[in-house]
Amino acid sequence: MNLPSSTATSTSESPDTAAGAISPETCGGCKSQDSWVIHSARLRGILRFYCTHCLLRNHPASFCPTCFAFYDSSPPHQSRRVSCNDCNSVTHIHCAGDAKSPPYRCPPCRDPDGFSFFRPIVDENGARCMDKALSEAFLCAAKIAASSMSKAVTFFRSEAERKGKDAAVAKKRAREALEDVLKLDEKAKLAVSKPSENRDQKPKQSPASNGGLKQIESSAATAQVKKQSSSVVQVKQEK
Ligand SMILES: [Zn+2]
Ligand SMILES: [Zn+2]
Ligand SMILES: [Zn+2]
Repeated sequence: MNLPSSTATSTSESPDTAAGAISPETCGGCKSQDSWVIHSARLRGILRFYCTHCLLRNHPASFCPTCFAFYDSSPPHQSRRVSCNDCNSVTHIHCAGDAKSPPYRCPPCRDPDGFSFFRPIVDENGARCMDKALSEAFLCAAKIAASSMSKAVTFFRSEAERKGKDAAVAKKRAREALEDVLKLDEKAKLAVSKPSENRDQKPKQSPASNGGLKQIESSAATAQVKKQSSSVVQVKQEK
């Protein structure tokens, strides 16, 4: 099976991808922009985009790394599986072959630098193609991505419903608060429109009015006089 060339072959990085931002054209694992298909998945609460190899590598417990059976939340029974000592991937015991003696390591953990789940074959014309094994790996990755996005839809739907309920409660509270304000405003208007009993009385003088000022001035004068008389006494004593 021939694969179409990747839609994103440019090697120039946009500021977003250069800064490590999540982009649907760049694999979030190996940063490849030439991965034919980018799968989307929600991992640890964040929407991410991965090439086929990196998607499989980031979901070790979701499939058998040898036959690419997708477990769909029900891995094989403990008696019929073997877990990888390094990444906790789950392999059918019959797929592990001679390697199942502990400590078992899955194929990518046995060769972390050289192994790839999905390395398309390049034919003599330079076209990339897939054999049966690669198509099984690709199909498995697509199933994992579909399952992950389906769970994400369920999660975001319940989030939207919860936020909708919160918004309705907030709206009700805001309306009640507005009604209270209108009632208080009504009361204030009524109080202003009533004729005041003490309207014609002269306003009381504040301490800062003339009376208070005079008092302050006189006490300052007394203090000045006291100071002067004490200095006179002091001069007399010196004599
Ligand atoms: Zn990748
Ligand atoms: Zn298997
Ligand atoms: Zn492993």
